[in-house]
Amino acid sequence: MMNEPTAEAHWVFDLDGTLVDGLAASRLRPGAAELLRRLAADGMRLSLWSAGGAAYALRVATRLGVDALFSAVGEKVAGDDGRWVLPVGWQVAGGVVCVDDEPGRLPLDVAALPVRPWLGGAHDNVLVHLDVSRPAPRRLGMQLASSELGHGVSHPPGGAPETDAQP
Ligand SMILES: [Mg+2]
Repeated sequence: MMNEPTAEAHWVFDLDGTLVDGLAASRLRPGAAELLRRLAADGMRLSLWSAGGAAYALRVATRLGVDALFSAVGEKVAGDDGRWVLPVGWQVAGGVVCVDDEPGRLPLDVAALPVRPWLGGAHDNVLVHLDVSRPAPRRLGMQLASSELGHGVSHPPGGAPETDAQP
């Protein structure tokens, strides 16, 4: 809860099924802590959100020792179209990258990095091999600044089903 926002992309992580096991939220996904620390070390702003609410998300992050890596923790609230609405202030000039196991419900004005839901398997390597350069934050910022918003790396309407998430 102490990183200063930067002009770079804002990385917004889903909690259940993305960073922790979707059933008990009792363990960090393999590679999760390393990924978060690497992004934070690169000066990225990191936030955490959950449909279970901000207090729940903060409680889990604290228990697992990663709370200090996030500049904000928020609740996922669905808008009229059923998609999650970014909390006020989370959209930044550098663009938003959402890492999520339910990419179909992400806002349309973010770049999505879909991940397969994690149920706790020890050999899961989705976050270990997550390609954080795609979408590249800098490119994303340029796209957001242009008329290309809604195309390219931005999330397509309708979204990809979870089963189409990268392996
Ligand atoms: Mg999830």
